[in-house]
Amino acid sequence: MPDEKQKALVVLSGGQDSTTCLYWAIDRYGLGAVDTVTFDYGQRHHVELECAAKVAEFAGVSNACLPIDTFAALGGDALTDPDIEVGNDIDSDNGLPNTFVPGRNLIFLTYAAAFAYQRGIQNLVAGVAQTDYSGYPDCREGTITALQHALRLGMESEVTIHTPLMHLSKRETIELARDLGGLPAMAFTHTCYNGEQPPCGHCPACALRAKGFAEAGVVDPLLVTA
Ligand SMILES: [Zn+2]
Repeated sequence: MPDEKQKALVVLSGGQDSTTCLYWAIDRYGLGAVDTVTFDYGQRHHVELECAAKVAEFAGVSNACLPIDTFAALGGDALTDPDIEVGNDIDSDNGLPNTFVPGRNLIFLTYAAAFAYQRGIQNLVAGVAQTDYSGYPDCREGTITALQHALRLGMESEVTIHTPLMHLSKRETIELARDLGGLPAMAFTHTCYNGEQPPCGHCPACALRAKGFAEAGVVDPLLVTA
């Protein structure tokens, strides 16, 4: 049953996880109570932004794209620096892949909270998961809980960060998307770290996506339309 008093803002990246979160939010709050926000953070592949807009349009919700290009100026990660090749390699110092963009989710959610505050929206929905193979520290439950606490204090609001995928495997995320009617929208999503359409099929993100669909026994709609 949708909660008609509440509104939700989904952080939509254009990928499969945030798209699943969008359908989770529509199911929980109702179509008319859900908005989405996408961040142009200087990522190499602008196709992500186009995918987010397409997913939102397909689902029938608004999509605001906010420019925050400071990450590219910081440098040092493979997702914003074109001189660094996306790889499977793990940094031996911190155990993180070079696709880690330090602070990204913290900044995204802080901007999202400010955006939501201005519009009377109490609920943020983010597709982070601590089961993510990368083990990004800003995707972990402890980080999100602490950030929510900081945002509530700093904005004097009752903002809540929902992370419906936090403890789900990729297979379970695909199953959730399927159960919520979100699979057709997957045809518009984008996951490939190399920004290729059709997806390259061999980067870590493509491999993880393929594994999730295979384990769920679901054909990836993106590959059907490609
Ligand atoms: Zn790929």
